[in-house]
Amino acid sequence: MRWIILTGFQMLAKLGFLGKSKAKPNGKKPAAEEKKMYLEPEYTKSRITDFEFKELVVLPREIDLNEWLASNTTTFFHHVNLQYSTISEFCTGEACQTMAVCNTQYYWHDERGKKVKCTAPQYVDFVMSSVQKLVTDEDVFPTKYGREFPSSFESLVKKICKYLFHVLAHIYSSHFKETLALELHGHLNTLYVHFILFAREFNLLDPKETAVMDDLTEVLCSSGGRGGGSGDGAGSGGMGAQNHVKER
Ligand SMILES: [Zn+2]
Repeated sequence: MRWIILTGFQMLAKLGFLGKSKAKPNGKKPAAEEKKMYLEPEYTKSRITDFEFKELVVLPREIDLNEWLASNTTTFFHHVNLQYSTISEFCTGEACQTMAVCNTQYYWHDERGKKVKCTAPQYVDFVMSSVQKLVTDEDVFPTKYGREFPSSFESLVKKICKYLFHVLAHIYSSHFKETLALELHGHLNTLYVHFILFAREFNLLDPKETAVMDDLTEVLCSSGGRGGGSGDGAGSGGMGAQNHVKER
């Protein structure tokens, strides 16, 4: 049976995303040279929970490493998808003609490894559908008793993390204003910290890949995932995995 993690993020669907009325987007196109709003202290300190993610990401005793990677990766996929869906109506082919993060541009590579030039929404669509395909493939993410993980499992998890990072980074660099207008920046920060600390714990992301967001990562993750702790308590319920975290 797949190990299930209950995190504060599960509150996402129940709370902010569905309950809040949509603030007006300002309609402006994000400019690369614009000041990075997401680095401003009043926003970086916003969280939905005060959980110590540095401890929560550690492999629990008696849990198989691949099971732990599988359940967390699947959960991150759903949360990133959910977070992106809140701003997807602003991430259009016109507003985001390329998959850009600050001054970095990403290209999708098709199954033959050929570079595909695409808009940001197309790129995200490629990411979400290919990850969805992987996490629901019994040969890659087995859920039935007795089924084994493939030898390529870790490299596939790394690939998924790389793509999820691109999507999160794009939300920060191009859609932070809209995220802010929706009052979902606390959710975004919390998801980012949890994701980065998890990837760091298991070396799932190449530092070269994440360098584009190093300024943000430093601010958000330097204090062990807490940026001043202004959690609104929304995630105070069920942290099922917490009891199993190994104390070190
Ligand atoms: Zn976009």
